[in-house]
Amino acid sequence: MLDTSAFICGFDPSYINEEAYTVPEVEAELLENSLPKLRFYMAVESGKLRIIEPSHQYLNIVREVSGEVGDIGLLSKADMAILALALQLKEAGQNPTIITEDYSIQNVAEKLGIKHMPLASLGIRYQLHWTLYCPACGKRYPSNQKITTCERCGTELKRKPLKKTLIKRE
Ligand SMILES: [Zn+2]
Repeated sequence: MLDTSAFICGFDPSYINEEAYTVPEVEAELLENSLPKLRFYMAVESGKLRIIEPSHQYLNIVREVSGEVGDIGLLSKADMAILALALQLKEAGQNPTIITEDYSIQNVAEKLGIKHMPLASLGIRYQLHWTLYCPACGKRYPSNQKITTCERCGTELKRKPLKKTLIKRE
């Protein structure tokens, strides 16, 4: 299972032997003509990466659980879909692990009993920095803040990856 952050941080599905899964929303979140997007398309073409849309039933469970753990405002549509698909595959008896750098996804995955793994455990040593922003008035917030709505205008905050930094070189 690969989320947006996995692609942005340089994960290439050809690193692993198993088939990888993702959701249509991740494709939409990756910038056109970027290296992550190129890797995404190449993996789909080679049959390494399968794009599956999770069913509503699982999206509803994820929405409920992420509300309970307080991460709902921090999850994008793609993040929710990744979690829902992981849950769906798990219920179908598969053994999914979400590869993600995203703390909110890790939190909710934990709560759902889904395995997750940071990229560093695969030898990729990038760290993703997030920014929290208001899509209506543009005000920015520190990404570690637990607020979900804009203090200025009350709009629900969105989150996006700001940059990645190389942590360690072998
Ligand atoms: Zn605002």
